[in-house]
Amino acid sequence: MWQRFKMWLINFMDGRNGTDEFGRFLLIPWLILWVLQMFFPLRILFILSIALIIYMIFRSFSRNLEKRQAENAKYLQIRKKVLQFLKRQKNRLRDIKTHRYRKCPQCRAILRLPLKKGEVQVDCPRCREHFTVNIRL
Ligand SMILES: [Zn+2]
Repeated sequence: MWQRFKMWLINFMDGRNGTDEFGRFLLIPWLILWVLQMFFPLRILFILSIALIIYMIFRSFSRNLEKRQAENAKYLQIRKKVLQFLKRQKNRLRDIKTHRYRKCPQCRAILRLPLKKGEVQVDCPRCREHFTVNIRL
């Protein structure tokens, strides 16, 4: 019985998207909505959590792999940017007593400058742009 169900499920999911990183990520807002509903029994929260569940099921069973993979790639791209941003904030905090981070106006690289108050001359190590930054605090 279990074997047969497993075989049926494997056949059923063949050519379908299944669970990807974006699908797993969607569980987080769904869980938040679910917890919020316990404290605020609002109809809108209920509708949103149902809509999210339907969307998650739709994505796993979808046969339009191209579109689902594009969504997943977009999600991974955004996640990477968010993680980079968080890491930068962590480093800023770690170096708060010794360094300041400034963006190069030319190539937009983020430079870690030793903390020296006032106008500082900077040579970007990446694009060789020469510019001045004003470090106030
Ligand atoms: Zn530069």
